[in-house]
Amino acid sequence: QPDPDAQSQPTGQLRTPIVAVLGHVDHGKTTLLDTIRGSAVTEGEAGAITQHIGSTAVPLSVISDIAGKLVDPDDFDLPGLLFIDTPGHHSFSTLRSRGGALADIAILVVDVNDGFQPQTLEALDILKRTQTPFVVAANKADTVPGWNPGDTEPIQQAIERQNDRVESDLNEKLYEIIGKLSDNGFSADMYWRVQNFQNNIGVVPLSAMTGEGIPDLLTVLMGLSQRFLKAEMSIDVGGPGAGTVLEVTEERGFGTTLDAIIYDGTIREDDQIVVGGVNEPIVTEVRALLKPKPLSEIRTEKEFETVEEIAAADGVKIAAPDLDDAMAGAPIRVVRDQDLDDVIADVRKELAEIEVQTEEEG
Ligand code: GDP
Repeated sequence: QPDPDAQSQPTGQLRTPIVAVLGHVDHGKTTLLDTIRGSAVTEGEAGAITQHIGSTAVPLSVISDIAGKLVDPDDFDLPGLLFIDTPGHHSFSTLRSRGGALADIAILVVDVNDGFQPQTLEALDILKRTQTPFVVAANKADTVPGWNPGDTEPIQQAIERQNDRVESDLNEKLYEIIGKLSDNGFSADMYWRVQNFQNNIGVVPLSAMTGEGIPDLLTVLMGLSQRFLKAEMSIDVGGPGAGTVLEVTEERGFGTTLDAIIYDGTIREDDQIVVGGVNEPIVTEVRALLKPKPLSEIRTEKEFETVEEIAAADGVKIAAPDLDDAMAGAPIRVVRDQDLDDVIADVRKELAEIEVQTEEEG
């Protein structure tokens, strides 16, 4: 048994990969996120799954409970997955981090009946351009006529319950999706047949509605992250934080606040920060870091508690003076022991890159 105290080194800690959900409107992005949150809560770990601002963190222990025998937690050392709550490829392309896309990995949701649609193709283009690893969630498997529904369980188990005609109908739809992926330059197969996820896209049949196939999706995401993102996930957790603004919102008692994702280092109460603004970078000081109180009612939570520090990767609401000109998508930097002018220059440069990017997408 490894000594649990022996592993906490100050550097080289692994952060949670950030997961985005993309796909055509009505293909099930919101339902998928709700179901992942819901199954985590049903696993009796409502305290362990933390409803963050604009994101949902699902720790490895919860993933392993949901995934059952599909996941052996000993195979992984990444702490879990952080799902960004703002579905849609628009947010994906505007939400950036220092290196590129804010999301480290993505789920492309495709409705098995509706197949590839314009926004599916747009999403594929963005994933290709940003070289983001992704998995395809072939959603709404339960809508195949005659489907005998179950609940959150591995998809093989659900398929075994179906009669031959239902199974072959589903397969036909899945192969159509695999064919479309190939037409668009992505070699793909059912995820359980994929040997090399670097060259092949895994397709996970599932139902966001019933939960069938959700264990598989979480397992594949964990596996992909562990295999391909581990090096990027290694960060200096104690270093000055870097993040991205998801949304600028008014909060009673706090004034203008930032809903943000911190993807590197830490941010603390009283830290001096630089935030991208409409005209120029804003220099201000963190008054409070807010998190929703532990969940009772999913999604309706509006009460906050303050925390002293947030470490990457995590969502947080930042209260600070002078945030009126802050913009969604803008960078946030903690100054701490760095030179303020350098940090301002950094933020300015990054803002310029975002503008170029937005114009290109024009
Ligand atoms: P979004 O626009 O991609 O976020 O799609 P939504 O999650 O809002 O889903 C669109 C519609 O499809 C809603 O009426 C959902 O209830 C329904 N839906 C989503 N996933 C499933 C599924 O797996 N099975 C079935 N039968 N319906 C689904």
